[in-house]
Amino acid sequence: MTRHTLNLIAGDWTAGTSEIENRNPSDVSDLIGRFAQASRAQLDATLERAAVAQTEWAAYGIERKYNVLMAIGTEMMARAEELGTLLSREEGKPLAEGKGEVYRAGQFFTYYAAETLRQMGEAADSVRDGIEIDVRREAVGVVAIISPWNFPTATASWKIAPALCYGNAVVWKPANATPASAVALVEIIARQDIPKGLVSLVMGAGSEIGQALVESPKIDAVSFTGSVPVGRGIATAAIQNFTRVQMEMGSKNALAVMDDADLDLAVTLALGGAFGGTGQKCTASSRLVVHETVHDAFVEKLVAGARAMKVGHALENGTQMGPVVSEQQLNANLDYVALGKSEGAELVCGGERLEMPHDGFYMSPGVFVGSKNDMRINREEMFAPLASVISVTGYDEALHVVNDTRFGLTSGIVTTNLARASHFRRNARTGCVMVNLPTAGTDYHVPFGGRGDSSYGPREQGKAAAEFYTIVKTAYISSGQP
Ligand code: NDP
Repeated sequence: MTRHTLNLIAGDWTAGTSEIENRNPSDVSDLIGRFAQASRAQLDATLERAAVAQTEWAAYGIERKYNVLMAIGTEMMARAEELGTLLSREEGKPLAEGKGEVYRAGQFFTYYAAETLRQMGEAADSVRDGIEIDVRREAVGVVAIISPWNFPTATASWKIAPALCYGNAVVWKPANATPASAVALVEIIARQDIPKGLVSLVMGAGSEIGQALVESPKIDAVSFTGSVPVGRGIATAAIQNFTRVQMEMGSKNALAVMDDADLDLAVTLALGGAFGGTGQKCTASSRLVVHETVHDAFVEKLVAGARAMKVGHALENGTQMGPVVSEQQLNANLDYVALGKSEGAELVCGGERLEMPHDGFYMSPGVFVGSKNDMRINREEMFAPLASVISVTGYDEALHVVNDTRFGLTSGIVTTNLARASHFRRNARTGCVMVNLPTAGTDYHVPFGGRGDSSYGPREQGKAAAEFYTIVKTAYISSGQP
């Protein structure tokens, strides 16, 4: 029987004005459910209630908030198998990655549960006699969260958990490609000891309900992860109301492989970084910048590894790379394959649509060689299981190529030379730098974000999240004595 799923509007599960179908990209005959699409009137109603709920929530004691966040995180970790299966079924990442994502999402809640207890201000003496100063952080208010489909549970969690930790209300618009994971997370949150309407779920098209949400003067902040054009539009809309914005918009990450690198390690890092999550990660290693003396040996091993990868149904044992998320994304990927060839790069393996026993959006992991950094395949975020190898003559050129991009989220170097590793760590113009590690894969207790077109606004995650989700208040206190 088809599952009809509702939005959470002003604290009540509510049908929409219409519904969309959500199908499994590994097998489109598998209908996951039908998902309500919120109306503008529902959005307004939930925003009204969120403002009231926020003041109620902010007044909760810190242990009460701790208990709520801890309960959410603990339940997610306990149900990682079940919720990870649902996530993989609707997004297409292999089951181990789906389970890992849900577990990690739970860790964001337990981390920020602890942060509710650790919020400390600053005390100072005034320059005026008899006056003391107290500086502390307060909630921003109602936060709009707009999340993508590629990490549907983790990305939302690393925004929702700190928002709640610091006393805010949340109105969440998840990507329409992955609504089931959103509903599962909100079902857990809604069962907790929270004010009615503190967290809202408004599923719907980004261009409609997402746009209405970011344009609303009733929100105080918007945290977005997605594409550059949508991010630019959101920033433009938000500034009309001086709404604070935080955005993460992908990248064109490079992994530099030096002549002194352990090549087996380099290939393992490149394969995982380029093809993990079917290449649909903002931290994916889409550019492989390789020293010319090890180029041929590296490419030989990389191609052997890519050819050996088992592409298949996300929920099947042994699958290393699942399908692309949608037909639209698959077609865009195949267009990039054609573009790369027309630009003069040589496709040495993969990059083709695959026919499988199930009707899904499958393609083989592809490797370009002979590519130049000014080609569009090395300039634009493809979000595809495609890696381009760029040959360089030495470390200086490698660093130049790594930095020669408008993005700047992550970068990596594979080397056994400490001096080079240190120089790279200091001079790579990215928000995260990896030494002998994949460009993808970050922790939850430290800042995450990039430079250039990759990010805008304060960092996410760890203690750094307080910068976005709080406003500083400076109080001057006099004893009242003359
Ligand atoms: P989008 O930027 O369109 O979508 C991201 C989120 O924004 C979704 O929830 C989407 O809703 C919403 N959205 C879309 N338009 C608006 C709008 N006008 N106002 C408010 N919210 C809006 O990314 P796509 O999913 O279309 O992916 C396209 C490309 O974006 C990818 O190929 C990749 O290059 C990049 N991307 C980068 C990500 C990252 O991690 N940095 C994540 C996802 C994509 P809905 O989907 O329901 O329309």
